[in-house]
Amino acid sequence: MSFDDEPAGADPAYPRLFSPWQAGRLRIPNRLVMGAMHTGLERLDRREERIAAFYRARAEGGAGLIITGGVSPNREGRLDPEAPYLEDGRDEAWHRAIVEAVHGTQTLVCMQLLHAGRYARLPECVGASDLRAPINPCAPTALSSQDAWRTIEDFARSARMAHSLGYHGVEIMGSEGYLINQFTAPATNQRSDEFGGSPEARARFACEVVKAIRRNVPEDFLVIFRISAVDLVPNGMTGDETRHLAALVERAGASMLNTGIGWHESKVPTIAAPVPRAAWSYAIGQAKAAVTIPVIASNRINDPAVAERLLHDGVADFVSMARPLLADPCFPAKARANRPDSIATCIACNQACLDRALTGGRVSCMVNPMAGHEIERVAAPALVRKRIAVVGGGAAGMNFAFLAASRGHAVTLFEAGPELGGQLLMAREIPDKSEFNNALRYFKQRLSEEDVSVRLDHAGSVEELSSGEYDDVVIATGVTPRRLDIPGVDDPRVLTYPDVLKRRKPVGTAVAIVGAGGIGFDVAEFLLEAPGHVPDMSEFAREYGLDLGLDTAGGLVDRPAPSAPPLRQITLMQRKKGKPSGIAGAVSTRWIHRGKLERAGVRMLGGVEYRRIDAAGLVVSIDGEERTIAADTIVICAGQEPVRTLYEALIARLPAGRVHLIGGAREAGELDATRAIEQATDLALAI
Ligand code: NAP
Ligand code: SF4
Repeated sequence: MSFDDEPAGADPAYPRLFSPWQAGRLRIPNRLVMGAMHTGLERLDRREERIAAFYRARAEGGAGLIITGGVSPNREGRLDPEAPYLEDGRDEAWHRAIVEAVHGTQTLVCMQLLHAGRYARLPECVGASDLRAPINPCAPTALSSQDAWRTIEDFARSARMAHSLGYHGVEIMGSEGYLINQFTAPATNQRSDEFGGSPEARARFACEVVKAIRRNVPEDFLVIFRISAVDLVPNGMTGDETRHLAALVERAGASMLNTGIGWHESKVPTIAAPVPRAAWSYAIGQAKAAVTIPVIASNRINDPAVAERLLHDGVADFVSMARPLLADPCFPAKARANRPDSIATCIACNQACLDRALTGGRVSCMVNPMAGHEIERVAAPALVRKRIAVVGGGAAGMNFAFLAASRGHAVTLFEAGPELGGQLLMAREIPDKSEFNNALRYFKQRLSEEDVSVRLDHAGSVEELSSGEYDDVVIATGVTPRRLDIPGVDDPRVLTYPDVLKRRKPVGTAVAIVGAGGIGFDVAEFLLEAPGHVPDMSEFAREYGLDLGLDTAGGLVDRPAPSAPPLRQITLMQRKKGKPSGIAGAVSTRWIHRGKLERAGVRMLGGVEYRRIDAAGLVVSIDGEERTIAADTIVICAGQEPVRTLYEALIARLPAGRVHLIGGAREAGELDATRAIEQATDLALAI
């Protein structure tokens, strides 16, 4: 295969990103790969039109190459009892729908072959050895040598099927701690047969899979191997071993190397917002140095300029974006047209995608609720064009306004404050949540593109909203922090969370936080850092003990360097029994935030009854015993109440059905931006 390194007919803004790649008859129109993702659509109702619409949107949006969600090469390799696997005739219509979805575009599509190994939530799960994964209650049986060879043949048979189904290639999932990775890493390979005992033997299973597939498919069928660029687990592969494996995989016949980072059981975050953008370049670059085939960079690349830089710096030849193309299927087309501000940037929150995938739900996206709902949520032109007033410029109000306007309605958005953003203005202040700035930028850009009339510093009065100037009024007035009735709560040392996050009042050095939900955790993180601090790569590496030289097993140092002492002594409290654990639904991220607070020495208390505030601080009772939490600042983060005054006045004046309520104003309990934006979207599509 040849590799055309020169930008050809390229866009001046991102010349490398939009240079095509040609290998024989295969042509990938640009360097933007949509990485594999579990969508959950196959679990829903198995309507082929759903999955077809999902991938068609991404192909029409300009992705060069799409890699599907993982499909196991056999039954025992399924992730769970409902996950897809290949056998003769199985799911043929489903796969043909995916392949046909990209027809008529220049996009290529590859099937990912993923054998979960010991990560399979199945009693019959298998592994390289019989070591149970810490994140799976099911213990694996070690594959016998004979069964290992049979599994290799299953991979080959599956690739043959993928070819006959019309896919342009396969990606072999060799990273993230799945079966192949379990063979390559000493941590999980205790074998003494031909597949274990030395780095060479541990690489054999991976190489035999590649060779067997190569023997069974034509030369112009893409065989991508996803290598674990860094395992991030104790006794994982060293950099030397990874480079060696990369070279062997190339020799075995792989056409490209994709990169995976860390295992699902790693104690290092790999894709969530606390991970700096392009953090893993150091590991991806070392894999690239070992091969001549193209290498795909992945994880925390959500911006065209970052992607272009990685290509320019020679870190990789392609960039993979999975969640960013959930957030905006037209990311490639917008980048190509040099309209980066119009991109709905993935803010790495995981709230509507990974958290739902991990709990068996259908994947969508906080900043794009159309994702995963391509056939239900369609912005068709409005049959009757209305004049609509929206009150409240937070996430719900903004999203409603631009989407309704895109359908032809004339929309005016009123915001009582001087700036749009609502609760997002506070979220972006949290050190690990600076990506929220991009959500705000995108929402504002859409308002401008869709000609929404925005009136700041204007709350909207009952008179003007009911004067007949508007056909419909949408109330998105949000929430107000819950006030508590603790004796002494009016003391000047007691602050609300907006007082803190908007830097309206000074905060002392000993802080008691009342309420340990999402906001309580956020406030604690905010108060641990100097104002405006955004962690960089060296800090991230130090915090998680990364060995950037990759000399150590798994790329981890034994003892992470101590971090700088925290700015404040913080106590975080809740009434519920047990230690605060963060937001229940945030399964993929709450351990990260909890870990951060624990490392910074934040005291976390459960089963707390708040008694009073006195000169020494906050007096509480735990298990009937009274204690004083010494504090010079007490921050109340005890949830919110909806703001509905305007709504209640308007429903008394306007005919039924003309006043609508969305976002936190409708439902303040467990308020979250994902739900608010989904509500706004559904109303904007229906009105
Ligand atoms: P929350 O998650 O509902 O937590 C409220 C906290 O206040 C709980 O710890 C609750 O625990 C306590 N509380 C409730 N009523 C109280 C009362 N009367 N007196 C004393 N304590 C009381 O609300 P939140 O922290 O304000 O967060 C709002 C929403 O924002 C969350 O639901 C979350 O979805 C979203 N958010 C998400 C993230 C994210 O990263 N995904 C981050 C921030 C916020 P006890 O009842 O046990 O005391
Ligand atoms: Fe990205 Fe959050 Fe959307 Fe997931 S939900 S794709 S992490 S913005």
